[in-house]
Amino acid sequence: MNYDISRRILTTPLSVNAMAQYRITLLPGDGIGPEIMAVAVRVLKVIGEKFDLTFNFQEAPIGGAAIDATGTPLPDETLEICRNSDAVLLAAIGGYKWDTLPRHLRPETGLLGLRSGLGLFANLRPATILPQLIDASTLKREVVEGVDIMVVRELTGGLYFGEPRGIFTTETGEKRGVNTMTYTESEIDRIGKVAFETAQKRSKRLCSVDKSNVLEVSQLWRDRITQLAKNYPDVELSHLYVDNAAMQLLRNPKQFDTIVTSNLFGDILSDAAAMLTGSIGMLPSASLGATNPGVYEPVHGSAPDIAGQDKANPLAQILSAAMMLRYGLNQSAAADQIEQAVLKVLDQDYRTGDIMSDGKTLIGCQAIGEALIDALK
Ligand code: NAD
Repeated sequence: MNYDISRRILTTPLSVNAMAQYRITLLPGDGIGPEIMAVAVRVLKVIGEKFDLTFNFQEAPIGGAAIDATGTPLPDETLEICRNSDAVLLAAIGGYKWDTLPRHLRPETGLLGLRSGLGLFANLRPATILPQLIDASTLKREVVEGVDIMVVRELTGGLYFGEPRGIFTTETGEKRGVNTMTYTESEIDRIGKVAFETAQKRSKRLCSVDKSNVLEVSQLWRDRITQLAKNYPDVELSHLYVDNAAMQLLRNPKQFDTIVTSNLFGDILSDAAAMLTGSIGMLPSASLGATNPGVYEPVHGSAPDIAGQDKANPLAQILSAAMMLRYGLNQSAAADQIEQAVLKVLDQDYRTGDIMSDGKTLIGCQAIGEALIDALK
């Protein structure tokens, strides 16, 4: 069993809270969000008792739940509560019910607003295959065994935020959709720095992914990352075009250690990397800024197809809580215990549907929570 992610990631310098009291904002969101968040809170309470940590939880609405309650996907009050906390634990947002609303009122807009409002420019997504779940991957054992990738995705720039954007009417009366992919040198440099420092703490190999054969914005990206590499002589830098990177991820994922890429490419590649590991229901992430609290959330969405049925896998949420303890609150020992409990539950052959394979025992979201708590005790 090996799930020691402590060596793998950049840590922003943090001081341990002397009182060991933390203000944690909970954003359960939509779909399976409240179900998996409830499990995470139970686990955090148990771990808090064990390690003498007091978590002052404050729940706030975001996404569809916030639209229903307040008419907007990210109420000012929610952002304010997040800003005033030590860390933010988010589940997931979105659902069919809100899909036809105008763009500025969609749940996803609330998520983007949270990221930009907290200045969370770096999204770190580990994709590590656990030995217990190799058979849950759709790829062959020999391809995925030992996969251990960290995707560093730029989160507050690029195509998702660039202006101009919108659907405009041309002179001939035809509609024209526009988005703009844009990066400044400083935006590239700051995410590049995070990526090089992350790679330094791992196997010192960094692959930068772009589309510089076609896009000027990607040419600037490649130039800056190449320039930055001079400050990190111990890190071996390579470059790949995004189409090739997608192919290589499926062909031979073990060639990758740390990947750095833009917002759009990172969104797509990190989901592909996620699937190598068997299920998107297993993968946590951390979104970090320069000063504000980080947001810790599963990679997956709100899974409306299984919401309310006790079928959701809560482990990505639990592992996100562990990342929060480690990188947001500097409580590595507590994080270790949560990660070990996850492994223990998997060793006991308990599985939710998304990671089910022959000979394992299918249980629900809440039962996984019970098993985790037993494992922690
Ligand atoms: P999704 O990740 O919600 O679901 C994709 C598939 O994976 C579904 O079959 C789902 O049942 C399954 N799945 C996801 N998480 C699971 C879990 N924990 N346990 C078991 N199975 C799980 O992606 P989608 O279907 O493309 O999007 C659904 C909604 O989620 C949309 O409204 C989308 O905008 C939103 N979304 C939100 C986030 C976020 O909150 N960060 C991320 C992606 C998508």
